[in-house]
Amino acid sequence: MDYNEKREKLLLESIPAVRDELSPVEAKADQKLKKLREELLKYYKGKDLFKVDMLSNEELINSPLHEMIHKMPKACDLHVHGLCLMPVKEFVDFLIGNEDIFIAVDGTDRGKLYTGGVKEEYRSKGFMTVRECIEGPISRETLENMWTLKGNPEGVLPWDYFEVLFAEHGDLADSLEVFEDYYYHAFKYYVSEGIYHVEPRALLFGSHDIAEKKSRAIMNAYHRVRRETKGFTCTMVGTVLKHINLSLDVTKMLLDNAIYSYKTVIDEFDPDDPRPFVGAIDFVNEEDHSRDLKEIADIIQKATEENPGLTLLLHAGESNIPTNSNVIDAVLLGAKRIGHAFNLYRYPGLYNEIREKNICIEVCPISNRILDYTADLRLHPAIGYINAGLPVAIGSDDPGYQEHSTLTDDFFAIVLCWNFGIAEIKKLILTAVEHAVLTDAGKKELKEVWEERFRDFCNLV
Ligand SMILES: [Zn+2]
Repeated sequence: MDYNEKREKLLLESIPAVRDELSPVEAKADQKLKKLREELLKYYKGKDLFKVDMLSNEELINSPLHEMIHKMPKACDLHVHGLCLMPVKEFVDFLIGNEDIFIAVDGTDRGKLYTGGVKEEYRSKGFMTVRECIEGPISRETLENMWTLKGNPEGVLPWDYFEVLFAEHGDLADSLEVFEDYYYHAFKYYVSEGIYHVEPRALLFGSHDIAEKKSRAIMNAYHRVRRETKGFTCTMVGTVLKHINLSLDVTKMLLDNAIYSYKTVIDEFDPDDPRPFVGAIDFVNEEDHSRDLKEIADIIQKATEENPGLTLLLHAGESNIPTNSNVIDAVLLGAKRIGHAFNLYRYPGLYNEIREKNICIEVCPISNRILDYTADLRLHPAIGYINAGLPVAIGSDDPGYQEHSTLTDDFFAIVLCWNFGIAEIKKLILTAVEHAVLTDAGKKELKEVWEERFRDFCNLV
């Protein structure tokens, strides 16, 4: 074997992920994608491109490559948080169209949204509908800046600003009608983006009764969209906070409500294929300020042992602290998917088990970049996970605060920064479909819906 043959062999062994043959139309789409990428890279030569600041960079957003990826069907978003589902423009459109949502326009809670209360009382406090607000005291542009990380004041860490935004938007859940409407609009938006299955992480505060009603509101929203769009599905992820500043009682209450909803809210849209609508649980919060998974392992184990049908998902490894080893606990505790696993590269001893157990890594490129886990997306460790044959799916995390366009920005970023083409994208999407929390029939339907639309997309390129 000569030098070049040996080299080629080693290269293929190091990048084994994609050897799939593309169909002629897919190959044509792949050529187009790569041509647009080259043109963009040529145009940006020498500029600071790989920070991929999608919120602010109009040139990237308006580039032909972004447009092509925008049109590409993406199948599902397995990692997205409930109150920031829609990018800010769609979110503001939704708020403008809903006269039951009020906003504080001055004082310390300027920008905070209120709903579910008595309108006259809101008005007596000087609150306005969002439509009135943008026609008067706060412009649409100001709101859009305030409600994304663009508005993050100097010196405030992005995660801390998230907390401000969560507090400003949290009361949208105070009215079940508004809450359902919010999800309905978000799901319609997802369909328009070529996303036909969503697994929103939603917090269930309050009594069992309220938790059940909130879960049903999300399910109603999804049923409304499913009636309008063939094949659209949603599985809710009951979400539990683990922040160090929160009492463990709050963690237990959120878990208890998630399990209660798992048992009581059954999705019977397809009567032949009923399933728990709250099909999974996950434990979230900024990891560097959260309880380690090993500290709450007993709570998690009890929940999964008592509810074998409930899928365990775990955020773990979203940290640059060298001693963070939560990914080990995520594997030990039996997570079916791990959110981020950004620092998994520190623990290559886990790779075999992850492959054998077919645990999917939910990678959120834009989020990791914006929250500064990586300064340059070309260096993101997920490229190594993919090349090591670990199952990887792409998620958007907090598009409302971070993205111009849900999942489009993430796929755009990896085409640009990881040199990915149609073959790699297809693999990521099909891995996501395989790991969705759906019944086998549900996954089959999702795959068929996506394949048909993906064929159309490739044909039209
Ligand atoms: Zn997350």
